Amino acid sequence: MALTADYLVIGSGVAGLSFALEAAAHGDVLVVTKRSADESNTKYAQGGIAAVLSEADSFEAHIADTVRAGAGLCHPLAVETVVKEGPARVRKLRDLGARFDRAEGPSNGDDDLDLHLEGGHSARRVAHAADMTGREVERALLAAIAASPRIRVLEGHTAVDLITLAKFGGPEVCAGAYVLEDASGRVETILARAVVLASGGAGKVYLYTTNPDVATGDGVAMAFRAGAEIANMEFYQFHPTALFHPQAKRFLITEAMRGEGAVLRRLDGAPFMKEHDPRGDLAPRDVVARAIDFEMKKTGAEHVLLDITQKRPEFVRDRFPGIHEECLRWGIDITRQPIPVVPAAHFMCGGITTNLDGRTTIPGLWAIGECASTGLHGANRLASNSLLEGLVMAHRAAVALASTLDRSGPWPEVREWEVGSATPSDEAVVITQNWDEVRRLMWNYVGIVRSNTRLRRAARRVALLQEEIAEYYWKYFVTRDLLELRNIATVAQLVIECAASRHESRGLHFTSDYPGVDPRLARDTVVKRGVPAHLRDR
Ligand SMILES: Cc1cc2nc3c(=O)[nH]c(=O)nc-3n(C[C@H](O)[C@H](O)[C@H](O)COP(=O)(O)OP(=O)(O)OC[C@H]3O[C@@H](n4cnc5c(N)ncnc54)[C@H](O)[C@@H]3O)c2cc1C
Repeated sequence: MALTADYLVIGSGVAGLSFALEAAAHGDVLVVTKRSADESNTKYAQGGIAAVLSEADSFEAHIADTVRAGAGLCHPLAVETVVKEGPARVRKLRDLGARFDRAEGPSNGDDDLDLHLEGGHSARRVAHAADMTGREVERALLAAIAASPRIRVLEGHTAVDLITLAKFGGPEVCAGAYVLEDASGRVETILARAVVLASGGAGKVYLYTTNPDVATGDGVAMAFRAGAEIANMEFYQFHPTALFHPQAKRFLITEAMRGEGAVLRRLDGAPFMKEHDPRGDLAPRDVVARAIDFEMKKTGAEHVLLDITQKRPEFVRDRFPGIHEECLRWGIDITRQPIPVVPAAHFMCGGITTNLDGRTTIPGLWAIGECASTGLHGANRLASNSLLEGLVMAHRAAVALASTLDRSGPWPEVREWEVGSATPSDEAVVITQNWDEVRRLMWNYVGIVRSNTRLRRAARRVALLQEEIAEYYWKYFVTRDLLELRNIATVAQLVIECAASRHESRGLHFTSDYPGVDPRLARDTVVKRGVPAHLRDR
C-alpha cells in the first residue's frame, strides 16, 4: 500500500523545512530525510544569511555584488527577486524563534542585528548566530515543525527514484517517489500531489569537501534520471580552507579568519599568496583556492597552513568560538599553532533547472535550495547568498503551490517497488572501492584546474564505473551506500559533461586549455538525459 500526502518534501535543510512549514497551512506534508532531521549542509553553515537589513545598505548594492560574483551568468530577474524578498524571509525566521546576534551599541538598521561584512559584499549585510548560524536556523525550524500537526518527518528514509507516470504509460508528470527505509531495507511507494526536491548539494562527489555525508547530489541525479533539465554543473565552488586532519571530516575554516588577518603559509612557514595575487590573503575565494591547489601540486604537500597566531588569544577565542573549540578537539590550539588546511568542494552553483517558483521542467516536480538552478548564482556564488535563496525559494514555491495544487481526483495506479531477482550483496567492497575511485578522480581530474585531457580521462573512467554500478544495482538489494554511489557517479558524469562543453574559463570553471573568458559563451550549460550538454540562453 502506498503512503500518500499532499506534499512530499525530500530533504530537511533550510529549504525543505521552510517549505514544509508554509505548505502545512494548505495540506498534509511528508518530509523524508536520509539521517537525523537536522543533518544537512544547512546545519554546518557558519557565516550567515546575506540580506539588506541596514539603512546603510541597498538592494542595488546587493544585486550588483551578486551579479559581479556570478561572472556574467546571473539571471537578472532571479537576482532581483531573491535580493528584494530576502529581508522579509530573514524577519520571518526571527519571528519563528531563530536567535541572531544583536548589535551592541547604536543599531545599524531597524532590525537591530549585528551584520557582518563578508568577502565580495560591499556592505555589512550578513545576519548570523556567532559562527554557527546554520545550527541555529535548523534548531528554530525543527522546533516550529515539531509544533505543526500536519507535518510528518520520516528520518532514516532515503529517496531512491522519482515516480513519473510516463513510466506507466501516462503523461510526463511526477507523482511521488520510491523511498528506502534504511532500518528495514524496505522500499516504500509514496504518492503526492506535489514532490519537492530540497536535497541539497553534492560535495561528496569530491575527495575533500566541507559538506556532510548526506550531500551526494541525490536530487539532481534523480531528477536527471526522470528526464528533468539540469544546468551549470561545471560551476562547483571550492572553499579554500577546510581543516585537514585524517579523522576530522569536512570542517570549514571561515574566510572571515583571513579577513581578520590570518596568513596562508607553505609548510616551511613562508607566506605565498602575494606571489599569486596582489591582494594577497584577501584575494577572492576562487583565486585563493587555485593558489593553494598550485602550491600543493608543486610541492606534493597534502595541505598548507593558515596562521592566526599573531592575534591576541582572547580576540581569536571570542571571534571564532566554534572553530577554536573544534580545532582543540583535534589537538590544535589555533591561538598558538597554525591550522593545516586544504581547499574542499563546498557549494553546487548549478542543479535542477527551475523557474522563480521552483517549478522544474517536469510537471508535479519542484526543486528548491542548493539542488536547484534558479539563475541566482550564475558562474559563482556570492558568500551567504545560499541560505537566503533557500528561504526565498521555499516561500515562493509554497505560495505558488497553495493557489495551484489540485487535491481532488483519485491517486494514480503505479507499480510498487519490485525486488525482482535481487539478493543481499556479498561483495560490498565494490561499493567502497568505487566510492573512493569516483571521488579521487573527480578531485584529480575535474577539480579546481581542469583541462581537455583530464576531462576526457575522467569521462572514460566514470562511464566504466557507472557500468559496474548499474550491474551491481540490478543484482543486489539496494542500500543507502549503493544509492549514494550511483548518484555521485551520475553527478560526476554531469559535472564532466558540462565542464567539457564550456570552452572558456569563467567564474568557478577554470581550464588550462581555454584560460580566458569568451564573451560569446555567456550562456548556461544545459543537460538532459539522452541529450548532450549544450550552451543555451535562458
Ligand atoms: C560548512 C558549510 C558552511 C556554509 N556556510 C554558509 C553560510 O555561511 N551562508 C550561506 O548562505 N550558505 C552557507 N553554506 C551553504 C548552505 O549551507 C547550503 O547551500 C544550504 O544550507 C543548502 O540548504 P538546502 O536546504 O538546499 O540543503 P541541505 O541543508 O543540504 O539539506 C538537504 C537535505 O536533504 C536530505 N537528502 C538528501 N538526499 C536525500 C534523499 N535521497 N532522500 C532523503 N533525503 C535526502 C539531506 O539528508 C538533508 O536533510 C555552507 C555550507 C557548508 C557545507
